[in-house]
Amino acid sequence: MNDIDTRLDAIRGTATPKAHNARTIAALTSNPGCTRRSVLDAAAVDKQALSEHIGYAAPFGMSGFAIARGNSFETHVKANGCAELLRLLREHLDLPLPEVSYDDLNSVAGRETLEARHLRTRQLLSRALRSGDDAGTLFDHPLLRLTIAGRPVYLEPDLVAFRLRGRFHVVEIKSFPVIDGRADASKVAAAATQSAVYVLALRELVAELGGDPGIVSHNVFLVCPENFANRPTAELVDVRKQVTVVRRQLTRLADIGGLVAELPAGLTLDLRPDERGVATRPVAELRTALDAIDARYAPECLDTCEMARYCRAGAAGRAAALGRPVQEDLGGVDSLRAAIGLADGSRAPGEHEFEAARLLQLAERLRREALGGAA
Ligand code: SF4
Repeated sequence: MNDIDTRLDAIRGTATPKAHNARTIAALTSNPGCTRRSVLDAAAVDKQALSEHIGYAAPFGMSGFAIARGNSFETHVKANGCAELLRLLREHLDLPLPEVSYDDLNSVAGRETLEARHLRTRQLLSRALRSGDDAGTLFDHPLLRLTIAGRPVYLEPDLVAFRLRGRFHVVEIKSFPVIDGRADASKVAAAATQSAVYVLALRELVAELGGDPGIVSHNVFLVCPENFANRPTAELVDVRKQVTVVRRQLTRLADIGGLVAELPAGLTLDLRPDERGVATRPVAELRTALDAIDARYAPECLDTCEMARYCRAGAAGRAAALGRPVQEDLGGVDSLRAAIGLADGSRAPGEHEFEAARLLQLAERLRREALGGAA
């Protein structure tokens, strides 16, 4: 354990490290410039427990209904030896074979430890890499691994379609619908980022096994229900951009030492749980510690980070709290009070604020005219 690990462990305190998954790793990319999130995630802090204790709990994660619907759809796609999936692969990837082999890595001879499943995944991929066989092979529940801030994290793609014309394709099964050929763009974007995490993990494994990581395709196979029925449809989604973004954020977490070095000595977010697991740390003390880590709140945080309500309260009155488009429009005027002052002329513009002041005054005049016209 090096100094950075010791420091991160001290920041987390007595709690066990919070495990990551592809969804949480994908969420890291939503606000890559936020030091607070980077430090909390590198230290594997349980952000949900932390936000609850300081009085800013946010409902987060998928609802029970959404999870049940997702499981039901996945079961349907994989039923009868993945019959529906094979139909889609034939249609979209010109799968030339009437049959493909299928390996379920969920259970290894009754042992289901993560290490055993990961080892089995390695063995099967290694064998496939050496075989040179061009046949399609489906791996169900493979267990991949990525290193996040120095810690190994296990990841489980829904399925990997393997070794078709010499390439691996990640298959991602999602339960949001494709209606008349269109799906919710934000959901597709989230699925693409999550798939990019799997692509990276699979490339890492192929490289460890001595193979060429480039054989893992950047085109992932996204399977969703079509219209309002349960019948699956699929699209190939290019995740090159998302792979780059995820990789950049993982590098930032790996280089967390520089950010941690800036923090006050002895800073800890330990909840100090008692013997029943109830947090005893004074809330004011914990908020002070948290405020010592720079945050960069944006409205998107509400969808992607458990700390969002706390950070939003901290950003009140700042242009950033209204989102990046507003922030950019205000051209460097960070405080909303200052923006209002520039707009109504009660505040003189600073050296770099003349253009922003001109636009704000124009907007204010138009607003007054519009309101006057309405009256
Ligand atoms: S909610 Fe807070 S900690 Fe999370 S990403 Fe946004 S600013 Fe950073």
